[in-house]
Amino acid sequence: MADLRELYQEVILDHNRRPHNFHEMADANRKAEGYNPLCGDRLTVYLHLEGDLVRDASFLGSGCAISKASASLMTDAVKGKTLQEANALFEAFHGVVTSDVSSTPDLAALGKLAVLAGVREFPARVKCASLAWHTFKAAASAASAEVAAVTTE
Ligand code: ZN
Repeated sequence: MADLRELYQEVILDHNRRPHNFHEMADANRKAEGYNPLCGDRLTVYLHLEGDLVRDASFLGSGCAISKASASLMTDAVKGKTLQEANALFEAFHGVVTSDVSSTPDLAALGKLAVLAGVREFPARVKCASLAWHTFKAAASAASAEVAAVTTE
């Protein structure tokens, strides 16, 4: 398990150094800004939706390694999914990162997001890991061309 943890940490640091989908999106039709005051993480999430399908997702922002890696993984994960599928993945992810550390996490449903499961041992970082998802949800439910904003409580 210690080796796995080091591997996960390596993946997180790699996403932080070279985040995927880290750019503004010219043809975005949804956009939201997320802020986590506990840590100071700020993200802007851009989506190109076609009906219920997430055609494209990207983000910009600054924050800790966890928040950036999570946004990188989130944008990868939601691309090509329907909003229902993306929300189901968020529910599974949120379930794991807020689960009791003595329980066995259900990582199978998480795919690549499983590398972030370790944050459940650090409750203060759960908001860092979920900021990208809350911002995604705010963008997805925003009216076209309006900028939604979300602040984690
Ligand atoms: Zn953070």
